[in-house]
Amino acid sequence: MGLDNVQHIIMVLSGKGGVGKSSTTTQLALSLSGSGHSVGVLDVDLTGPSIPRMFSIEDAKITQGQEGLIPVTINEADPDKGIGRLSAISLGLVAQRGDSIVWRGPKKTAMVKQFLNDVVWPPNTEYLLIDTPPGTSDEHITLVENLSLADQGSRLSGAVVVTTPQAIATADVRKELNFCKKGGIRVLGVVENMSGFVCANCSECTDIFSKGGGQVMANDFSVPFLGGIPIDPQFSDLIELGQEPKYPEGTIITGQDMSQSGSGD
Ligand code: ADP
Repeated sequence: MGLDNVQHIIMVLSGKGGVGKSSTTTQLALSLSGSGHSVGVLDVDLTGPSIPRMFSIEDAKITQGQEGLIPVTINEADPDKGIGRLSAISLGLVAQRGDSIVWRGPKKTAMVKQFLNDVVWPPNTEYLLIDTPPGTSDEHITLVENLSLADQGSRLSGAVVVTTPQAIATADVRKELNFCKKGGIRVLGVVENMSGFVCANCSECTDIFSKGGGQVMANDFSVPFLGGIPIDPQFSDLIELGQEPKYPEGTIITGQDMSQSGSGD
């Protein structure tokens, strides 16, 4: 029960809202399942759950099975096409759309615990990506406390930290990286989102904000830099169609492969 069916857990973090954390979680999920891996997405952004919108499953509902909550299936596995199963769970699939959720700490903690303990992920789920709220709040602390328990520790592979070029100049990203350091969470890498702008007409990528800060920040904390993703006007449309945006050659700064990531100490 709970996370028993899950092999690797990856938390996706950001210092602020609106930097593209949920979009990065969605892209990671699509590319992992598109490479044949079985993926689950757990949305613990309780006050602003956007995973249902990103995967266009807003009308789906979580069901209660005999052993616990059953996530919504986004894609069934198709081994012939090399596609892995993709499923997700979010408070947005429980609450009515448009409901505003104003919860105090203990209720948030209880909800996150319920998501960790009571969801029956499909057998052999290789990756569970956890989309977290911005900053370091009750949800993060609950996750770290519960996932660091001896029986869960080996499955918390680490965290991907998402930032934008502007956010890098603020203390938020440092706070996030320090949170990982204190909590003993391995940083798999930093992603610099909205890094340059891709022109819809000529596909040229222009650096409208400064670029390269993600690499500097990663170097400062001795963690891997995974890459930069440009602003793409078609981004949200493509994501909602379940497609990964195709960036013009040379616009993605490719950093290190996550599997090669260091300890983040
Ligand atoms: P967060 O989870 O950090 O609050 P989201 O992933 O919800 O941020 O992204 C905020 C908005 O920015 C969304 O509308 C999303 O479609 C858009 N967005 C994110 N990344 C990009 C990008 N690289 N290009 C264009 N739009 C983007």
